[in-house]
Amino acid sequence: MTTPEQLYTAARETLTLLPRTQALITHTTNQVDESQIKRTKTVHRIPWNNDAATLYFDIHAAVRRHEAALTLLLFGHARYRGGDDQNTLDAVSRLPVLLDRAHTAGHQHHDTVTTATTDLTAWPRQLRALLDEPRDGETPWTKAPGNLVCPHCEQRLHLAPGWRDRPDHADLVCRTPDCADEHGHQPRWAPSAWVGLVQPDPAPAPPGVTLTAYATMHNMRRNTLDVWAHRGLEPVGHDPAGVALYDVNHLDQRRAASTGRCSLQVVHL
Ligand SMILES: [Zn+2]
Repeated sequence: MTTPEQLYTAARETLTLLPRTQALITHTTNQVDESQIKRTKTVHRIPWNNDAATLYFDIHAAVRRHEAALTLLLFGHARYRGGDDQNTLDAVSRLPVLLDRAHTAGHQHHDTVTTATTDLTAWPRQLRALLDEPRDGETPWTKAPGNLVCPHCEQRLHLAPGWRDRPDHADLVCRTPDCADEHGHQPRWAPSAWVGLVQPDPAPAPPGVTLTAYATMHNMRRNTLDVWAHRGLEPVGHDPAGVALYDVNHLDQRRAASTGRCSLQVVHL
């Protein structure tokens, strides 16, 4: 059960962290074709940080969806916000107020209320993870694979956070409160004892971008990108709407090759 205080705290944190995340969208390195900038004066460099942009626009859309659904539930009419940044922040501020009211009105188990609560309370954690400022306890522990249990308490063992980055140093830990080995210490095993049993999950798929998005980022003609795709550029996946996604690095290589010169410059913005 989430308390009103937790909802207001989550909204306050989101209001602080969201603009910082939005600022990150433009704080990335991007290859910019200088020759194209000189040729057509209207070209803007559009730098792009995919992770920051995805999270920002997810929240941007979700907070409007939740606000509209909650006002519909509470007042029988939906409120639709404009797309500007101030409206996003206003909607975040209003979300705990609406949720509090929905709880008071006895709607606490309504889908609209539970999904909005889940999202709102997750945003600060997601934003902090993106800003690389996770708090203690926010990096998840992983259950040890293979049903490995502690010999002292027979509860499932865990891998400490960060084990994927350094699997050779991934101790197996018993997290049961008060469980102790014969020396009175928290039970812990070095990876040499068990690491052969498991392998880290395969690396996540490379982030993809739609051709339309890439064309927009680089002010290119969409036709050019269709030609590349036709000539054997392979998609790396599909977005939820089924639109093909392409590896940004592959697209950058094609773009570099198509300009016929190698004087691309990495611009730090
Ligand atoms: Zn134990």
